[in-house]
Amino acid sequence: MTVQGIIKRAMKRLELEGKILTPDAYAEAFCKEANKAGVKVEDCSHLQKMTESLSKDLQKDLASFRIKTINELVRFLSSKLSRTNPTKCADVLEAQTTLTKRILQVVEVLHNKEAAELAHKSLDLISHAPSASQLDQFRQLWVNFITTYDDTFLQKLHQFGAIDSDDLKKSISSLNLSAVSKIEAIDKMSMQKIASLLVASFVPSIASSVNDNIATLSARIKENPSLLESANIAGDIKSTIALRIALDKKSVKEMVESLDGVVDKLSLRLISMIESSDASNADIQKIKRELESYNQDSGSNFKAAHKKLYTIAVALEENTQLLSTDLKKHSNEITKMSKKIHKLEAELDKTRKESKEDFLTKLYNKRALDELLEIKEAEFKRYDRNYSIVMFDIDFFKKVNDNFGHDAGDAVLAAFAKILKEESRTVDVVGRFGGEEFLAILSDTDSAGGFVFAEKARKHVQKSRFMYNKERIKVTVSAGVSDRKKHVSLQATVNSADEYLYKAKNEGRNQVAYKK
Ligand code: GH3
Ligand code: MG
Ligand code: MG
Repeated sequence: MTVQGIIKRAMKRLELEGKILTPDAYAEAFCKEANKAGVKVEDCSHLQKMTESLSKDLQKDLASFRIKTINELVRFLSSKLSRTNPTKCADVLEAQTTLTKRILQVVEVLHNKEAAELAHKSLDLISHAPSASQLDQFRQLWVNFITTYDDTFLQKLHQFGAIDSDDLKKSISSLNLSAVSKIEAIDKMSMQKIASLLVASFVPSIASSVNDNIATLSARIKENPSLLESANIAGDIKSTIALRIALDKKSVKEMVESLDGVVDKLSLRLISMIESSDASNADIQKIKRELESYNQDSGSNFKAAHKKLYTIAVALEENTQLLSTDLKKHSNEITKMSKKIHKLEAELDKTRKESKEDFLTKLYNKRALDELLEIKEAEFKRYDRNYSIVMFDIDFFKKVNDNFGHDAGDAVLAAFAKILKEESRTVDVVGRFGGEEFLAILSDTDSAGGFVFAEKARKHVQKSRFMYNKERIKVTVSAGVSDRKKHVSLQATVNSADEYLYKAKNEGRNQVAYKK
């Protein structure tokens, strides 16, 4: 295609696009048509060449602005140049650096150690021409600082409205006031602790009972600790504490009064003790007079009670000393007397052992009977003198004890002993062999004679009524008889009498059995 043809097409394009024929519009349309026709026109690639000579960043910018003509390119570049004015940039940078320094200097003197240190380091960095990466590193440090920085306390202070930057003193005092007045700042746990402390302080320390009013308020506060926030609770608390103190005071008064009473009684007791004691020396009389004077003192406070007790203690101490001297004196006498008693007891014991008399019946006792039996045995052996032995045993004597008592039993024993004494001859020996057993030794008598004697005694007992405390006690007795000649030894004779007694018992009691 010829240049004329391209011109024609360019003119046609302008006409179709409705554009006015300006040099720029014509040039654009011409280049487009030339390009279309595949004709290379140097003028049409100026813009492309210029664009390629620019930096990559600028080329990107250019693309977004859709620059089509040299004129547009020149306008774009000139606006770029006027925006990056080097002197202006330097001024702005300088101003920004100074501002940053000032901020850092301020932070440096604030009361946050971490921020101050970071500010100091940042200032140091700025004054040593830092690289972009160094600055970036510090920017990160500041981000870290602000991330971990906790200023919630300040927020709380602000909530109280207590910060007054003009007057620190005022701020502090109003801070305290706020803390008290705005109890909601205290957490729930603390409220509960305060409530339980307060309730504990209501409990009387001396008085044993808790007043109803105190108990009610305590329960109310315990149940709902936030009650403490209400304004009118203060009055209730005050009056409850006053009530608690009053209760304690009342208790103390009662205690002192009762103590006083005890002291008075003690004084009186002591006075009467001193009066009834033989000691009548001047000192005791003085104590007595002092005690009497304290009794008249009606004051019922601790001091008076203490004074009284102290005086009584002193009086007791002195009196005890006197008593102990007395006691020492007497204790020697007591020791002497007790020695005498021991001696007498030993003598009595000895006499009892040597005694031949049964203490209850006044007959011979077992020991005496044994000795007398030996004598009879000796006479038998030497002179062939026979003797008989009668063994008596009261029937069912256990019943007498059970029915009438042991004393009644003793009385029966004594009465029976009397009967035996009456029925025996003077030469005969009667004695208590043990318990309710009696033994008679009849000289020159055989068992038949012994039987006669025993029968007499038995019958006597049978018809007797033993009296004890207006009671008529009926008893019977059984007996066994044997004589020496019918046996080989004394012991065999005694055993035989015992066997016959056993026989009498077995055959119905209240009878005498004898060796024929
Ligand atoms: P039995 O007819 O079989 O002899 O019956 P008993 O109850 O007499 O027999 P036993 O030997 O079982 O009881 C004798 C009682 O005599 C038992 C004892 O308590 C009582 N006695 C013994 N010595 C005394 C005494 O000195 N005084 C009194 N009161 N009782 C005595
Ligand atoms: Mg018996
Ligand atoms: Mg008996």
